[in-house]
Order: sequence, then C-alpha cells, then structure tokens
Amino acid sequence: MLTSICGINWGDEGKGRMVDLISEEYDVVCRYQGGNNAGHTVINEKGKFILNLLPSGILRDDVVNVLGNGMVIDIKHLNEEMGRLREQGIQITPENLKISDKAVITMPYHVRLDCLEEERLADKKFGSTRRGIAPVYADKYMKKAFRMGELLNPELLYSRAEAIVEWKNLTVAGGYNSEPVKTEETIEYFKTYGEPLKEFICDTGLYLNNAHKAGKKILFEAQLGALRDIDLGIYPYTSSSSTIAAYAPIGAGVPNLKLDKSIGIMKAYSSCVGEGPFTAEYFGAAAEKLREAGGEYGAATGRPRRVGPFDAVASAYGIRCQGADEIALTKIDVLSGYEEIEICTAYELNGKLINEFPFTDVLDECKPVLQKVKGWNCDISGCRKKEELPKEALDYIRLLEKLCGCKITYVSVGAERDAYLKMDE
Ligand code: GDP
Ligand code: MG
Repeated sequence: MLTSICGINWGDEGKGRMVDLISEEYDVVCRYQGGNNAGHTVINEKGKFILNLLPSGILRDDVVNVLGNGMVIDIKHLNEEMGRLREQGIQITPENLKISDKAVITMPYHVRLDCLEEERLADKKFGSTRRGIAPVYADKYMKKAFRMGELLNPELLYSRAEAIVEWKNLTVAGGYNSEPVKTEETIEYFKTYGEPLKEFICDTGLYLNNAHKAGKKILFEAQLGALRDIDLGIYPYTSSSSTIAAYAPIGAGVPNLKLDKSIGIMKAYSSCVGEGPFTAEYFGAAAEKLREAGGEYGAATGRPRRVGPFDAVASAYGIRCQGADEIALTKIDVLSGYEEIEICTAYELNGKLINEFPFTDVLDECKPVLQKVKGWNCDISGCRKKEELPKEALDYIRLLEKLCGCKITYVSVGAERDAYLKMDE
C-alpha cells in the first residue's frame, strides 16, 4: 500500500499534523523532496514538535522514516533537528531513520548565496526562506553538488571538494564579491556534520522496494503545496522542487511502484508565505483577524503569513495537480468566529468569469469573485463526529466539495492529534 499526503494550496495546510495522525496505519513514512525550508508543526501526547527535515513519522515508535533522494539536506540543520528531538525524548537510530545516499547536501555557501541574491534583489526579492534551497537544487542540475553517499567515502569526497569550491568561488567571490569559500572549511564541515550521519545513509530506494514487497505500508509526505511546485506552481514564486504526489515514487527512489492513493491536505481558508500572486488576499483588519485566529506565522521562519478566504479556483487546480482521491480539510475551527464566511468561487479577468487557474502573469490581473455563506459562530473544536457539527459548518464542507469536485474524508478541527472527525463514519 502506497499513499501520498500532499498540499493542495500554497503550503502550511497542516500536512505534518495529518501525517502524524494517519501514520498510525503505516509502517514507513518517507519525505521525497525539498529541504529544511518548510516546517511542520505537530502536537501530540509526546509534546509539541517542529519538523523541518525529518518525516512526521519520527514521532511514532514503530514507524521507519526515510529521507529520499529527491531531497536536499542541510547536514548541520539535520544534526540540530535530531538533537532537539532527542532532547524531547524521541529515539532516533539507524533502525527508524534511513537517509538516501543519493540525496543532495545543502552547503553553507548555498545558504550564503540565497541571502546574497535576496539582498541584491532588494525590493524585488522572491521571498526566499534563505535556507539555500534554490542554489543547491541549481547545483544538483549543474551536476556540481555533493551527495550524502559521498560522506561514506571521505577520501574521494575531500579530493572533489577542492574542484567544486574553486568552481563555486567563480560565483561567490567573482560574481557577488563575497568572501571566498575555503576548501579546508568545507572539509571540516563534512567532518563535523557528516560524520554523525554516516550510520543512517543507505540505498533507501532498495529499502523501500523491499519493504513494499514484504507487504509494508508506505506513506509519502510532501512539503509545501501544489501552487509552489517548480513546474506547475506560480513560477518563479515557487519552491525549487516538485511538491506533486506523482513525483513521490521518483523522489523516493521507487519509480517502479505506483501510488494507491493520494490524500490532499486542503485548508478551510487560504494562507501563503512570501511573495507572488495571491488573488484572494485579505488586507488590513480582515487579514489581521484571520491571521490571529489561525496563528498564521511560519513554522520555519516565524514570518506572518498572507491570508485570504478559501479559493476554489486555486484549490480545484491543486486537486487536479495532486491527483487527489480524497481531501483532508484542515483548520475549519479557525472560521468559528465569523457570522458570515467569504469564499472565492471564481476569478474575474477582463470582465469575464474564469474557473480555471490561469498562467502566473495573468493572475495579477485577476480579481476574486466572492460569495458569502452563513457562518456557525460557535466553537467546533470539540466535535468528533459529523453529527456534532453545526448545520452551517456541514454546509460549508459540502460546498467546498462541490466547488472543487473532490470528496472530503477527514475534517480537522484542531492542532492536536485527536482533534478531527471522519465524514464517512
Ligand atoms: P504543514 O507545513 O502543511 O505541515 O503545516 P504547518 O505545520 O506549517 O501549519 C499548520 C499549522 O496549523 C500548525 O501550527 C498546526 O499545528 C496547525 N493546525 C493543523 N491542523 C489544524 C486544525 O485543524 N486547526 C487548528 N486550529 N490548527 C491546526
Ligand atoms: Mg509548514
């Protein structure tokens, strides 16, 4: 059984929270793209955790966690994240964490280049998380990156370091006039942060393939959402990796396997971090109210997130991109304080209504068409059964299903593990 959990919107839909819940039924949880640029917040009986690189399954005792080949791994950050979790009482051993030998290493100079470029762009900046993600993926495709498996052969790695550093300095020192990268420092870095990870590195594609053959259930955990996908999202305001469910078998090293199910995580309203077009955006008091109600501040960066009403045009597109078979709707409890709730049902472009998500440049000219529906105006965070939901909340869920053409199976009404209900029970 292979299932993917992916984001329908701009990210921060609550994927970590849903993986934490759903992983109970799985043996393996695998991340297959991105790096430490995003954050998942998980609250369960063990405490509150912020995960940037580790799969949310790390919080379950019997789950094996995999960092796939499609990822970029900041080894310093990973050491620190593992350290924090261990301090919080989480066991991490080569038995429950496996890191792909083919995953790419994010280096300090990638982080530096990310910052240098954002500073150069000044008011035209991309809103990068400054974790080096675009520079490291660029190097991957330039075939000038280091991979995790190289840490197992230090002699060869160190001999390669000099040539790569020389090449990198053409940009760092030559292009940006910044302090040159030093080979000795790069080697020291590998020794300090690579050494403790060696025991976790293996051929994770082979591991997953064998696990699948042995009848194990595998869950793929995506980072960010469909609208941040490098190919299909709001390029160039996207991430640099594929956030799409269909990429999971590739980013996990099992392209021979097919997904059985794609679960899309969709938020009951919209939020977006960073720059780029965000058609149904709230500003001023409306934005502040929703941001406060939803606690919309980035898990990785603490940045206030942009917010807006549920966007049916963008969400329907996200569902199509993710090939979602079903939806887990999150954070609907956040809308409890509203007499009336707005929904963006279409965009207006040059006086015409459109329902299909357009090309990025065109988005700037689109205006949201808003429909108002009656709110429930009471606390629903204690609801655990569909029957306990007020009629207006149920109507809201049914309307989203209709607008997006996909069934909603889970409804999350709080951040805690048990704060959810199932629509088909
Ligand atoms: P991810 O990146 O998709 O995993 O999402 P984040 O963790 O960045 O953001 C989701 C935030 O909402 C986290 O702080 C979660 O604890 C919280 N959260 C998740 N589901 C719910 C929900 O149904 N209700 C409320 N109120 N908070 C939720
Ligand atoms: Mg997040």
